[in-house]
Amino acid sequence: MKITPLIGLEVHLELETKSKMFCGCPADHFGKKPNTQTCPVCLGLPGALPVPNKKAIESCLQIGLALQCSINTISKFDRKQYFYPDLAKGYQISQYDEPFCSDGFLFLDSGKKIGIERVHLEEDTGKLQHKTLNGQKVTLVDYNRGGVPLVEIVSRPDLSSSAEAKEFLKKIHEIIRALGVSSVDLEKGQMRLEPTVNLCLENEIGSHYTPLVEIKNINSFNFASQAIEFEITRQAEEFSQTGIEKSSTNKTTRGYDAVKKNTFLQRSKEEAKDYRYFPEPDIPPFIIDAGYVEKLRQKLPLLPDQEIANLEKLGIDKKDAKILVSSNNQVALQTIKDYSTNSIVDIQKLASLIVNGKISIPVIASDSAAIQKSIISQYCDLTKIGTTDRGELEKVVREVLATHPGLVAEYQGGKASLAGFFVGQAMKATRGTADPQTLASLVADLLS
Ligand SMILES: [Zn+2]
Repeated sequence: MKITPLIGLEVHLELETKSKMFCGCPADHFGKKPNTQTCPVCLGLPGALPVPNKKAIESCLQIGLALQCSINTISKFDRKQYFYPDLAKGYQISQYDEPFCSDGFLFLDSGKKIGIERVHLEEDTGKLQHKTLNGQKVTLVDYNRGGVPLVEIVSRPDLSSSAEAKEFLKKIHEIIRALGVSSVDLEKGQMRLEPTVNLCLENEIGSHYTPLVEIKNINSFNFASQAIEFEITRQAEEFSQTGIEKSSTNKTTRGYDAVKKNTFLQRSKEEAKDYRYFPEPDIPPFIIDAGYVEKLRQKLPLLPDQEIANLEKLGIDKKDAKILVSSNNQVALQTIKDYSTNSIVDIQKLASLIVNGKISIPVIASDSAAIQKSIISQYCDLTKIGTTDRGELEKVVREVLATHPGLVAEYQGGKASLAGFFVGQAMKATRGTADPQTLASLVADLLS
């Protein structure tokens, strides 16, 4: 029997806005004293009116654009009703049938296209803390996180292995980081993962599909990958024992136990109809202007795939370019770009020395010039150029002389003071790494 896993991913991202999604409370809730960042709006008190956060909507649209989605001209918020203590209002403001963005895609390195069903905006819930107080087991609730803007990215079930799922998640992480709309810190819960898994089993008789399983709230790429692996094996075994196939009513939700490395049944999954969605009556629908979307598209930063392509154009191997972009060391990337046209630096060699850890990037807060100087001086030491390699420097001086034939003629006509200018230009070309005396003697030799 041929088994094909069908894996989809839901990714929740907490946006890094100043205020919450529908009120003026601070959105930065991490480590704050419980229930100190709330107001009648995010607590859902009677008469409170939500006002949508423009920056959050912009960030959601930018994520959609970066994932090649269509931006829907008309969009709205809906109420999703469910009763749970982390939800102060008894409902969550989310988006149901008219999300801001839909139908996008992302390419894996293999060239496989993974569909993005939708990118929508909603509000985060509060946080429950299970504790023992005075010998009694209690659950405490902190509403500081309630109402923080949350973007949900939903992929189509186009992924067929845990490795593909992990690559997809890493790519999403890098794209969001490049956009700068969230710190995507998984440990702080700013990026939360929910894989949906089932299997297509094919034999001579036909195709069978196992019941759909959603694995909730995972906070690491490795855990997501392990949970998917476990589910693939578990569902294949379950099917061989029970023969139960996917139906419209047997979707379940499971949790992941990182210690036991297994998934466990939490509850049978609610259907959309169980949430009794209806349009949020306090927020009118949005009409999104094409010109506004175009402006947002223009403002998109360089995305990881484009950045990798640019490094390849500078002559860097794809493998090294990917590691450099993924490491997100902006000074290292800038150094490579700055030195890409420098005649004494072999740019691929510099890149591979950085990638392989031969050049250590010093941690000097906000002093990028000092970091760059250290990178280049390590490069010169490792490759023995700069101060000692007269052959390399001769190439540089020859280039300088070739670009200033008029001045060379003047020098040879008797204007000896131009020697200083040639040395200066050569020094500039080596970004100050060369020994000035060697340069001066080269200039004198080459022009004599
Ligand atoms: Zn509030």
